[in-house]
Amino acid sequence: MSKEKAVERIKCVIIGSGPAGYTAAIYAARANLKPVLYTGLQMGGQLTTTTEVENFPGYPEGVTGPVMMEDMRRQAERFGTDIRFGVVTEVDFSGTPHRLTIDGEVQVEADAVIIATGASAKYLGLPSEERFRGMGVSACATCDGFFYRGKDVAVVGGGDTACEEATYLAGLCRKVYLIVRKPFLRASKAMQERVFNTPNIEVLFEHNTLELTGSDMGVEGARLLYRKGEPDECEREIRIDGFFLAIGHHPNSEVFRKYVHVDGQGYIVTEGSSTRTNVPGVFAAGDIMDPVYRQGISAAGMGCRAAIDAERYIGEMESR
Ligand code: NDP
Repeated sequence: MSKEKAVERIKCVIIGSGPAGYTAAIYAARANLKPVLYTGLQMGGQLTTTTEVENFPGYPEGVTGPVMMEDMRRQAERFGTDIRFGVVTEVDFSGTPHRLTIDGEVQVEADAVIIATGASAKYLGLPSEERFRGMGVSACATCDGFFYRGKDVAVVGGGDTACEEATYLAGLCRKVYLIVRKPFLRASKAMQERVFNTPNIEVLFEHNTLELTGSDMGVEGARLLYRKGEPDECEREIRIDGFFLAIGHHPNSEVFRKYVHVDGQGYIVTEGSSTRTNVPGVFAAGDIMDPVYRQGISAAGMGCRAAIDAERYIGEMESR
């Protein structure tokens, strides 16, 4: 006689272990929702790839990304969050309770689900980019620009993010190269104007990055290819201390798209200033629903809102 294993029923599942996920966990645990948090593959999220974090309130001396995320994890655990290493590989949000599959095998059921799976910055895929990750290579000017005060840096990309980051860095750095693969910028006209009117930004149109050069101390330069495949194709080298990627982000929403509404870029759409998605009982917080601010502190704030929204949802459900 085969005995079917009972499916675990959880009040509140949180998916993701960045600032949004951990903050949601702290609030949900303190509200007695007994949250279970699935970490995803990169425990601690994007901030674990950053070195120094100086703009998160509460750390007057600054803190490293990994230490801050470890602090958040311990704070979430202190109030009873059950933190599990695992990846949500499938969901069924067609009815209640919501069903989730972890690592392709384990099934759980949840009354409320908070999606905080974040977004991943896109990289060019160069081996030297990997080598200098956190040692001159960054995907966030707001996070790391401060470390390049008075230095020369490059930003790759031709969209709004690249233009915004280049303008931000121009206020801190001596010189900013904007490396654009096309002969034009894709950014809005207003953003382009700002770039062209900033004297210490040099736009390098039709340039592709071949390799970053440097030493154990970090990035020292970049080898670029001008007009790839054209008769006047040639290589040139620029001297830089920092290399900022701004070629877009990829929201980690694939698993949920069958049920949860996303925008044209794959970011989860939420209702007004709440964290409610189109599926009752499913909430989204952090970079998965925020293509604009993308900061640890703004993600944490959204995580708090998501837990409060989930608590209210569960409260209403239980009083029915
Ligand atoms: P986008 O997708 O708009 O732009 C990406 C840029 O990176 C493009 O110029 C693209 O080049 C370039 N790129 C992509 N892959 C490579 C590669 N392998 N090598 C070199 N260059 C590459 O992303 P953004 O992050 O800039 O913007 C995302 C969205 O967010 C947009 O809708 C934007 O308008 C919005 N946004 C709005 C802001 C605001 O209003 N303040 C601020 C920031 C973003 P190519 O053009 O050749 O494809």
